[in-house]
Amino acid sequence: MFPPNLVEATIAQSVIKIIVPEEYKANPRFSNKTFNLKDQYPYWAFEEKLEMKSTNVLGLVTFSVILGITIGKMRERGKPLLVFFETLSEAMMIITGWVIWLSPLGVFFLVIAQIMEISSFAALLGQLGLYFGTVLLGLFLHGFGTLSVIYFVCTRTLPFRTIAGLSQVLATAFGTASSSATMPITIQTLDGMGVDPRVTRFVIPVGATINMDGTALYEAVAAIFIAQRNGLELGIGQAAAICVTATAASIGAAGIPQAGLVTMVMVLDTVGLPADQISIILAVDWLLDRFRTTINVMCDSLGARLVDMLSAADLRSMADVDKANADPHELVEIVKGDTHV
Ligand code: ASP
Repeated sequence: MFPPNLVEATIAQSVIKIIVPEEYKANPRFSNKTFNLKDQYPYWAFEEKLEMKSTNVLGLVTFSVILGITIGKMRERGKPLLVFFETLSEAMMIITGWVIWLSPLGVFFLVIAQIMEISSFAALLGQLGLYFGTVLLGLFLHGFGTLSVIYFVCTRTLPFRTIAGLSQVLATAFGTASSSATMPITIQTLDGMGVDPRVTRFVIPVGATINMDGTALYEAVAAIFIAQRNGLELGIGQAAAICVTATAASIGAAGIPQAGLVTMVMVLDTVGLPADQISIILAVDWLLDRFRTTINVMCDSLGARLVDMLSAADLRSMADVDKANADPHELVEIVKGDTHV
């Protein structure tokens, strides 16, 4: 997370290698993977190596977050740097747009290459089916389990009425596979439900850009699926690293169709798998994308409703102050009546 050299982090990852003495390697007691590292510590040597093939994404993300907070704190003085990064990002998006024009051709060859390598198509379909089912089950449990519980604990009301009221929003999210494209309908529907416009107009755009729990869940499952297909046994540390990177990658994913597939590269990097392995899941991704976008949008909407409920009193007092600002006599009354204001 804290690369010693930032430029180096863009092209290399430092890997700690454990050097096992030869006599230990020969000893059957230590040749299995379950030895206790702590007990054997005096006999191990550690070696730090630079792996040039991969980028230290986690290190770069950590630095970016810190730099972002710093620019925010600098306010006016940080503006030029902010404008620089925004312009750079815009320029990259234009280049990406050009590349996207070529992507159908690229994807066609990626899929064909993958299909040619398949020895048993039936076995692959079976595996993909299980992967598909796992993501769907996870999304369902998250949407109607975790999110509902959080909503209930914070508001003491069940979210199912709200979810039913969001049916048009959820259908649009499913149809467009894009949180951003659904945004106008989400805002309109929440306004119709009585959520304060100040809340919807802040929470929904932020949510559509960075809050993608469906995508995070899918990226973690997909990375584990791909790792297992490659015969990679994942330890608890690697699984945890996948979860953290998947969450970071989902924040980075844009609210457009299949954006999660692009940021998956970052997650695959974490477990040391090449990016072209993504093509394994390409065949079902267009459909999974719709389900995960629906959960992304549902979470944004429930979040807006929750913020609205929790900040109702503050919003009301802010409205009172606004009103009083328009009429100075009323302000005097409010200040007398409630020293808080
Ligand atoms: N399509 C998703 C969204 O817009 C992002 C993704 O997971 O690909 O929310």
